[in-house]
Amino acid sequence: MEKKNLDWANLGFGYMQTDKRYVSNYKDGAWDEGTLTEDTNITLNECACVFQYAQTIFEGLKAYTTEDGHIVTFRPDLNASRLADSARRLEMPVFPEERFIDSIKQVVTANAAYVPPYGSGATLYIRPYMMGTNSVIGVKPAEEYQYRVFTTPVGPYFKGGAKPLTIRVSDFDRAAPHGTGDIKAGLNYAMSLHAIVSAHKEGYDENMYLDPGTRTKVEETGGANFVFITKDNKLVTPKSDSILPSITRRSLMYVAEHYLGMTVEHREVYLDELKDFAEAGLCGTAAVISPVGKVVDHGREICFPSGMAEMGPVTKKLYDTLTGIQMGRIEAPEGWIYRIL
Ligand SMILES: *Cc1c(COP(=O)(O)O)cnc(C)c1O
Repeated sequence: MEKKNLDWANLGFGYMQTDKRYVSNYKDGAWDEGTLTEDTNITLNECACVFQYAQTIFEGLKAYTTEDGHIVTFRPDLNASRLADSARRLEMPVFPEERFIDSIKQVVTANAAYVPPYGSGATLYIRPYMMGTNSVIGVKPAEEYQYRVFTTPVGPYFKGGAKPLTIRVSDFDRAAPHGTGDIKAGLNYAMSLHAIVSAHKEGYDENMYLDPGTRTKVEETGGANFVFITKDNKLVTPKSDSILPSITRRSLMYVAEHYLGMTVEHREVYLDELKDFAEAGLCGTAAVISPVGKVVDHGREICFPSGMAEMGPVTKKLYDTLTGIQMGRIEAPEGWIYRIL
């Protein structure tokens, strides 16, 4: 298989059309067998449920080339089960978890020429998603759905090193208590757009959302979970029913405990505690970990001792260990690396 002639190291994080995408339709209570297609467009009725009532959910994972030359994905079984959880919460049919894995395998195999080479820092981002497709005007779930998976090559997240981020405590809320914050649904992102645009306008990289109930506890950002390192080397990560269960965060908790011998605390984290932490980071599939140097709470600056020049030392160790596991340089826990080619 010949690789596409792309400038891998200088790709951005944007959409680029690749050769094939996977499509399966749900009708009369059943999913069809699914197929790969070259058609990048979706034609739907003007009254499709996804347009009127935002009945849509998604996942994000990546395929990449390991040190020994295999194309793999990282823990796709967790994306499969999380998409199933999202579907149940929005009254959508579950796309069977084993078929989810198979669809990823088919799409990545068909687009293998776009999987960046080892060492480039780039990856093939995979976007599975599902939407209600038939016309619905009274508020109710759709009866017909489409599940799709497309891929797009994306560049290294940090070009020229990971610069620590400056984050503001947001006055907007991300997710209501007992709401939909714990599922990966487009609706959680629609409401975050105004908050992120205004954060950028004011010179901040991201929003830190607090728990809407009391506004005293740290939840997450628009698209990444928080991890904190204490001065005595513990990993602390916020626990709440309205935080999206990040696969990267769950993996980092395991790596901290089992590879680095750290104590891990998954618990409520108060805004008041931030000043006591040594390091902070954001975690998610795209960047793995982005260091956070500063949190600004209405003019009050909380500066982490790790500073604004580089990733904190413990965060760096976590980052190096997890990316080492992903790339095949460090032995992975059973079942973490799913080989495609
Ligand atoms: C996708 C997402 C994350 C990160 O999850 P990963 O599984 O690690 O990629 C974190 N927060 C939100 C709100 C998300 O949508």
